[in-house]
This record gives sequence, C-alpha cells and structure tokens, in this order.
Amino acid sequence: MKFIGAHVSAAGGAENAPLNAKEIGAKAFALFTKNQRQWYSKPLTEENINLFKQNCKKEGFLPEHILPHDSYLINLGHPESEKLIKSQKAFLDELKRCEQLGLKYLNFHPGSHLGQYSESECLQTISDSINWALSETDFVTAVIENTAGQGNNVGYKFEHLAQIIDKVNDKSRIGICLDTCHAFTSGYDLRTEEAFTNTFQQFEKLVGFQYLKGMHLNDSKKELATRVDRHESIGKGFIGLDAFKFLMNDNRFDDIPLILETPNSEIWKDEITLLYSLEK
Ligand SMILES: [Zn+2]
Ligand SMILES: [Zn+2]
Repeated sequence: MKFIGAHVSAAGGAENAPLNAKEIGAKAFALFTKNQRQWYSKPLTEENINLFKQNCKKEGFLPEHILPHDSYLINLGHPESEKLIKSQKAFLDELKRCEQLGLKYLNFHPGSHLGQYSESECLQTISDSINWALSETDFVTAVIENTAGQGNNVGYKFEHLAQIIDKVNDKSRIGICLDTCHAFTSGYDLRTEEAFTNTFQQFEKLVGFQYLKGMHLNDSKKELATRVDRHESIGKGFIGLDAFKFLMNDNRFDDIPLILETPNSEIWKDEITLLYSLEK
C-alpha cells in the first residue's frame, strides 16, 4: 500500500501538522518541528508533544509514515570547525525533538563543502557528524536526502549516499529519502520504463532498497542533469506523469512516506488523488 502525503504546515505548533495532513486526504506527512530558517526555536512543550501524539493517533498516522525535515541552515559537512559544531548541535536538537514527538525519522540534506575541501572529505565529515549525533540519541533514524547537486552540495550521486552510509557505525539508524526532482536534475532519468528501471537498479546496486525510508514526489521545472533544484507540480514539469505511474505500481515504494513538496499547496489534495488514480 502507498502512503502519500505532503510537507504540511506546522504553524501554531507541531500538533497542527497531522490535522493539516488529514484535510488534504494524506496518508503520510512531513513537517518542520521548528522554524526551518532560524538556528534557535523554543523547546517543545508537554502540551505540544501530547497534542501531537493524540492528533496523530486520532487521524491514523503512524510514526513510520511521518518524515520530519530539519532546518535548511544545518550543514553537517561544513569545512570550518566552529560552524560545523554549530550545525552538529542544531542537528542533535532536531533529532531530540523527533524523539520527544515519538517519531522514527529525521530527513536532512547531507551538506556542502563550500568549495573549501573535496567532496570526499565533506562526505567523511557528514558521516562523523551523524555518528556523533546518533551516539547522543536513543532511537531516531537519520534519513539522508539525495540532492540536485546545486552549488557545492554533495549527495547528488548514489555513490555519495553509499559513501556516507558506509562510514556510519550504526547501520540500523541510517536511511535514505529519494527526491524525484533532485534525482532527475542530478542526472537520473525517470521518464521511460527503461530509464526508471535503470535508475532504481543503480540505486539497488550502490545503496540498497533496505535503506529507503521515504520519497519526495516532485516534478521538475528544470531539465535532466541541469543540477538545479526547482520543484514543479506532479505531471506539469520535465519529469512528467509516466514516472509517477511507474512508481505507484512498484511495490518497492510500498509502506514508506511518499511526500509532495510541490509548489502549489492549493492542489495537494488533487495531486494525491491523481497519484492514487495511477495505481492499476
Ligand atoms: Zn526534497
Ligand atoms: Zn528540492
């Protein structure tokens, strides 16, 4: 069974996210547990935590279908030690917030070398950051997102994801979230059955589906291999509807959160209906 949802608003408190998800007919959702554009947010209160859990239960959302996303400011591969430590501490705070909410995953962008050292050194730093943060927490899984490869970001090749995982000590607490837009603009074609099959064969060979904990379902405003991250509504971009039809009829994508991050939130409900209609 497919669990489709969207990255919904948590304005007014994390407890509102499951209600916002229910409103658009979602079976899964993503949220920010703090302001994604600030380093500091006030701690979750007992009330936030209890209401969040109650609302998830009431609306039928299980922790494995909820994919919180960390702040955009965090760079776990930062080449400068002081700034790296700031990012690591912020990441730890995010992991702890997830644990407080009873959530299993935290989705994050791997990081950026900022042109100051090699991709390989950056990937090693990211693994070190993850190892430290996991050692300071109890159960949450760190879920690395593939990137479009814009600017100095690493994580745009399956080899990068594999390299990070390889250096993580606790393999039971590391996972991957694949973003279809990022995959496409980083050079992985999805538009024909042959291309789709080939892309996920490579993923299986280099990373492995056992690590796939979620997907971001986005079409792309930019062409294949442009390494630009611009999401488009499903079926309206350069990827097109066929790729999503292949995905909806492939059981390797069952039982994980499939999250829309498409630009027009007004049509999320329609996009969810559209995606389910692609199932044969
Ligand atoms: Zn994404
Ligand atoms: Zn993106």
